[in-house]
Order: sequence, then structure tokens, then C-alpha cells
Amino acid sequence: MFRLRLDVWHRIPIVPSGRVHNLINSLSYIGIAGCYGYAHAANWVRLEPTTLLTFSGAFLAGTFMLSPDLDLAEQNVDSKRNWGILGFLWIPYGMVFSHRGLSHTWIVGPLTRVAYLCLLLAIPIFFLRQPVLETKLPGVTRGVVYDLLESLQNVFSSGILAGQVGLGLLFGYYISQWLHLMADGVAPDMQPRFFGKRKRRR
Ligand SMILES: [Zn+2]
Repeated sequence: MFRLRLDVWHRIPIVPSGRVHNLINSLSYIGIAGCYGYAHAANWVRLEPTTLLTFSGAFLAGTFMLSPDLDLAEQNVDSKRNWGILGFLWIPYGMVFSHRGLSHTWIVGPLTRVAYLCLLLAIPIFFLRQPVLETKLPGVTRGVVYDLLESLQNVFSSGILAGQVGLGLLFGYYISQWLHLMADGVAPDMQPRFFGKRKRRR
């Protein structure tokens, strides 16, 4: 009887819930910040504030908004709930990607969510760009949008600044994703499974 029960436990993959993932990532973030603080105080490393800021932003976004478990977005998962009323936008992603398949791979998996996010952003930008750009506020010769676009252009035209931003975004996002995969027990060389796996709550 006892042996039978053990056998059943072996076949059930024990993976952390969304809240446990959030806790693991948050504690890891505190740990990373502590290590950096120590290394900075000892003059071993010195990163630019831009890199630290973008790292933190990307890490938090990767943890709470772009988690690999969005492949279950047709159900009610934590990272979908964090999108509030816009959570439904991730349902097609959840329908296309099988749970713990391609979405849970180390390099391509995180890219699928960024690509999907770009697609989501591209639709309103495409339809609204002309009306927004042509909107003129009374007494203002150049709109807020122009200023925003100009500052973005400045970031990308300055190679050093773009490097600092890119470094922070890349490491912040990927580390948040890899912590999730490690907690799920996904090995870096695991073969992706795109289709054909039954959905199960994480
Ligand atoms: Zn997962």
C-alpha cells in the first residue's frame, strides 16, 4: 500500500505555484541586491544607475508580468491576474503554447513572450500613431509624444547609453526567467515540447 502511494507521488510533477515562484524570485532579487551592494562597497564592481534601474524593472516585469506560466493564460494564473483587465490578451499565447513546453525553455522561451508582447503593442501603435502624432494641445507647439520619442531616440543614438539599458534589460529579464525554470526543475538542455501535451495546472 505504502509502495503504491510512493509510486503515485513519483508520477505527479511537483512544481511551485505562482506565489511560490514570486517569493523565490523576490528573495533572489534581495540576495542579488545584497551581493551587488557588498561588491560595490568593496570597489569590485561599479554599474551605472541606468543599468541597475533597467535590471530591476526587467526583473520585476519578468517575475510578475511575463512569467513562463503565461502558457496557462487560458486559466486563471498569477501572472495573468497581474495584468488586470488586460489579462485576457494573454489567452491566445496560452492556447498556442503547451504548458512547460517551448515557453519553458531557457533561451527561446523568454523570447516568445517578448515577441508576443511586441505584437500586442504593435497593434495599437499601428492604428493610433497618426491620430496621436497629429494631436496638438492648445498652447503647446510640440506634443508630449514628440518629447517621449525624442528621448527614446537619444537613448538609442547614444551607443553607451543603449549598452547600459540593453545590459540591464537582458540580464534582469533572463535571470528572472531562469530562476522560474530552475524552481520548476527544467534543465537548460530540455527538449521543447510545442504541441500535444495535456494542460495541467502548474
Ligand atoms: Zn512554470
